[in-house]
Amino acid sequence: MTPSRQRPILPLIGAHMSVAGGLPRAVERAVVHRCDALQIFTKNASQWRGRLLPPEEIREFRARVKAARLGAVLSHASYLINLATADAALLRQSMEAMGDEIDRAEALGLMGVVLHPGCYTAGSATEGLRIVADALQELLHARRRGRTLVLLEHTAGQGTALGASFEQLATIIRLMKGHRRVGVCLDTCHLLASGYDFRSPGGYESTCTAFGALVGFERLKAFHRSGAGSIATRTSARDSSGSSPSGDW
Ligand SMILES: [Zn+2]
Repeated sequence: MTPSRQRPILPLIGAHMSVAGGLPRAVERAVVHRCDALQIFTKNASQWRGRLLPPEEIREFRARVKAARLGAVLSHASYLINLATADAALLRQSMEAMGDEIDRAEALGLMGVVLHPGCYTAGSATEGLRIVADALQELLHARRRGRTLVLLEHTAGQGTALGASFEQLATIIRLMKGHRRVGVCLDTCHLLASGYDFRSPGGYESTCTAFGALVGFERLKAFHRSGAGSIATRTSARDSSGSSPSGDW
């Protein structure tokens, strides 16, 4: 074996854990289940407002994540947020809520916030994609010093939901001028529902080829394995460059 020989890149495997009893409890649960990655809701996912996180709770959460050596911790944004809407009031409310999600994630030292791109409510999908991109640009611009990523989740594409094709995810990223803090989260269930059947060797290869060509694996930061309840994440863009996510399915 030569020193330069490349070692395989292993994904960090984890799960979405309940925060009942306080955010630090989610880390305890992750440790019990031997996770090396974790996803949480930093507030109730079906409400606009969340409780204020006390500084002691934030400190304890960060200390426990460090002690548990979790390689990546993510949050999932509220399901109410719709950054693709043409309704000005709903867009404003969604931006405030998403800004709050990013701020919470930043305070907690999370790697990223998983976000459903949203549903367009008027006009075309193209207009919806533009509204999402502009909203995210504005939110990240207002938080230039932050590190937390926004991870666009690939969706099943029901109704007018955006993000069910790799093309749409790529369009949002392109409209954001390839912002360094935007990534992607894939989900096995959503992939199948939207026509990316990766279960056969041929389907797997064509799905990977399409994703690599349109979005790029350097943007792939998390993978939801729906049904199994686990997530896999990648720690850095550098590590995932040019490789296929074979261990993450
Ligand atoms: Zn989701």
